[in-house]
Amino acid sequence: MTIRTYIQAMAEKVLSGGTIDASEALKLSGVSGSDRFLLFAEAARIRDHFVGSAVFLCSIINAKSGRCAENCAFCAQSAHHDTGVMVYPLVDEDEMVRCAALAEENGAGCYGIVTSGTSINKSDELDRVCRTVSRIKSETGISPSCSLGILDEETALRLKNAGMETYHHNIETARSFFPQICTTHDYEDDVATIRAAKAVGLRVCCGGIFGLGESFAQRIEMAETLRELDVDSIPLNFLNPVAGTRLENADNLTPLECLTIISVYRFVLPGKRLSVCGGREKNLRELQSWMFLAGANGTMTGNYLTTPGRPPELDRQMMKDLEIPVEGCCGVDN
Ligand code: SF4
Repeated sequence: MTIRTYIQAMAEKVLSGGTIDASEALKLSGVSGSDRFLLFAEAARIRDHFVGSAVFLCSIINAKSGRCAENCAFCAQSAHHDTGVMVYPLVDEDEMVRCAALAEENGAGCYGIVTSGTSINKSDELDRVCRTVSRIKSETGISPSCSLGILDEETALRLKNAGMETYHHNIETARSFFPQICTTHDYEDDVATIRAAKAVGLRVCCGGIFGLGESFAQRIEMAETLRELDVDSIPLNFLNPVAGTRLENADNLTPLECLTIISVYRFVLPGKRLSVCGGREKNLRELQSWMFLAGANGTMTGNYLTTPGRPPELDRQMMKDLEIPVEGCCGVDN
């Protein structure tokens, strides 16, 4: 069987309701030359079949920045790194609501309140986030989500009762690679957070970041973990190295490799929302619009946590040029 016939056979398997395993996904990841374009096209066909061709937009606010006790190797906000990142406490309610309204104006359907740190302070900070979520629900038409670090079911329920619809928490990378990226908390703490959010009936947005030095087999391992966790949407971030972090010199992704990751994720996770988030401008460069031709159905518009995004009007123009409809939602790194 040629590789082209193999790509088509795997696509037919997924389209007929089958699941591809890690070795099959790994074989797909090895395509090269013009065979890659067939992989992208088949991933887009799978996307259209399971979730349609509409693209979802989300936006975030970095609501509390810096001084995080965790040591995630890629993160500008870790207190273990000297990056010069802005440090500020939880921003006030009015500012968070104002930014939600602006995100809505820019076409986003989901707005994430993101805070640095292992987890949120359960008294005054959580109270303020809950009040803000309620106001966003009543004062705007955008769907509120939160990314507040590790949380338990009790906190998840408080946020849900305030009106939060989606909880975002990334597992970042494969379980087998995680100890090389973070040693201050355990992979299972992140998994438990996903389970807590799901247990109270929240929608879950959970993905990771590529370009940390992981192998393609480990990228597929993460995809399989996400499939087991049955998360709803998956943010795919690509490392934008920040000076002062442990990975400041890691710069090893190419645009075509990023697109291959997107496509292989679509084969493994056919019915999920795959949203390309942090690092897309740097890593996809002139091929940004190809993310939708390779199987993605979402992206983040506006700025990321510590790095600027491009003007939202450029994203709107990209959708217009592609003639794909825009709907609304979430996740992020960088
Ligand atoms: S990724 Fe999150 S948990 Fe890790 S250092 Fe950055 S802010 Fe802290």
